[in-house]
Amino acid sequence: MPVSDNFTSTKKLAVFGNPIAQSKSPLIHQMFAKQFDMTISYERILGEPSTFVEQLGTFFADPNSVGANITMPFKEDAANWATEKSTGVTQANAANTLIRKEQGFRAETTDGKGLVSDLLRNGISLEGKQVLLIGAGGAARGAIEALLSEQPAHIYITNRSAVNAKRLVSIAEDARVTAVNESDCEKLAVDVIINATSLSLSGKVPAISDSIFDNKPAVYDMVYQDVDTCFIKKAKSLGCVKAIDGLGMLVGQAAESFYLWFGMRPDVEPVLEHFRNQLAKE
Ligand code: NDP
Repeated sequence: MPVSDNFTSTKKLAVFGNPIAQSKSPLIHQMFAKQFDMTISYERILGEPSTFVEQLGTFFADPNSVGANITMPFKEDAANWATEKSTGVTQANAANTLIRKEQGFRAETTDGKGLVSDLLRNGISLEGKQVLLIGAGGAARGAIEALLSEQPAHIYITNRSAVNAKRLVSIAEDARVTAVNESDCEKLAVDVIINATSLSLSGKVPAISDSIFDNKPAVYDMVYQDVDTCFIKKAKSLGCVKAIDGLGMLVGQAAESFYLWFGMRPDVEPVLEHFRNQLAKE
């Protein structure tokens, strides 16, 4: 249900997760709403694994509750709870956005679109490119459909657990997607590398040869920190000029959720700038 035509009552939104106190989503969406002179309520809700579905039911019992964001560990539960799902949600079996519809609730995943929009914003096109996707967890699964829609020549997936990389290949169901062992990455010449592992959070880099940077690919790390992540530091030290962290993906996926709820596209730039400045102060 596009709700942009009805501003008579404050629209309610929330993000569910556990933990949730760290979520930047309330502020991001309040900043988006301000761009359209809208008043919204957006709260953080600490989800409880045993009662998450009931919590969703309680939140959406209010007809002013137009949607929700879902984060770890409830993305799969949210996908199963919804009455309709996008292809990306079906592929990933995970949803980060719920949208109230005339009948029921639709589950979407906006992480992939957020990633692609941030790549494009940074001048990184995937069209005709050789792409290496490192990682095969929820973030990689949620991104694969959006990455393929940008018409890359090929996406190689590598991951610590090869079985998960192969599972993602079978989920993608596309001849342009193949799995490659970490040790075989040195044979690849790629144009774009996307790190979709959580390794940077613990100050580690994926176990792949430095030769993967020989081609001076554009590098994207889904993790963001106040300073360059270790993966970005490494890429830059090996001559990769374009090396970008995931803050823009975070704001981009939120912008996509906002669009799904309200049918209006917010400007990500001022919001991104705000959070970049905030991070620098932390
Ligand atoms: P998952 O837990 O689902 O997957 C984690 C991935 O990292 C798997 O591929 C896993 O490999 C790999 N990994 C974890 N530890 C190690 C290790 N010690 N050595 C090698 N590989 C490892 O997490 P998500 O996919 O949901 O998220 C991944 C990262 O992306 C997170 O850090 C998250 O913060 C970030 N992210 C950022 C977003 C943004 O908007 N910027 C949005 C979503 C996620 P294996 O399969 O072998 O376990």
